[in-house]
Amino acid sequence: MKIIMLGAPGAGKGTQAKMIAEKYGIPHVSTGDIFRANIKNGTALGKEAKQYMDQGLLVPDELTVKILLDRVAQEDCAGGYVLDGFPRTIPQAQVLDEALGKQNESIDYAVDVDVPDENIVKRMSGRRACLKCGATYHVEHIPPKQEGICDSCGSDLVLRDDDKPETVQNRLKVYHEQTQPLIEYYTQKGILRTVDGTMDMEEVFRAIVAILG
Ligand code: AMP
Repeated sequence: MKIIMLGAPGAGKGTQAKMIAEKYGIPHVSTGDIFRANIKNGTALGKEAKQYMDQGLLVPDELTVKILLDRVAQEDCAGGYVLDGFPRTIPQAQVLDEALGKQNESIDYAVDVDVPDENIVKRMSGRRACLKCGATYHVEHIPPKQEGICDSCGSDLVLRDDDKPETVQNRLKVYHEQTQPLIEYYTQKGILRTVDGTMDMEEVFRAIVAILG
């Protein structure tokens, strides 16, 4: 099963993507995580991506598409995957569809986790991330056992630069301008499914499972 998660930054699509990956036994592929891993390792790709990410801008399509196609070509993705944060533009979606089409494959569902803007800014300021292992938390909704410390690896938790309020406003603007048109794109393909992302995490997940079967 190949699934795309859509939704504004902070809508909770990353959390849901991880839950889907676990339940259905497919890899969780996050372009944001791939970029962050590259930044951490000081690669050339990481240096280039960081310039955009720190401003809440999208990394250029050419670079993003390449890393995504390389990732889904790996063996563990042969049985499907859940994409979190890709595609974010119509050209990205088109390149993915073309690449899949060449192998007679296609995306099964695009799941839109719908949350109004006013909820987003509030949510994102509470997000905390572990830069070492990639685990994410929320001070109210998914608190770590010990404040400021990662449950999985014991490292310090931080508010990511791209979750800071001024960056969040930028990311929302970018989302509406560049990513939201994908809702129409996947509606036309007949694979868009919308879930109410304002419900609590478990309820959102139940709604998604009811769709995916
Ligand atoms: P995320 O963790 O998905 O919220 O991504 C964090 C940041 O990485 C975004 O704000 C973008 O700067 C960049 N990024 C991640 N995925 C993409 C994508 N598909 N296209 C362009 N930029 C992306």
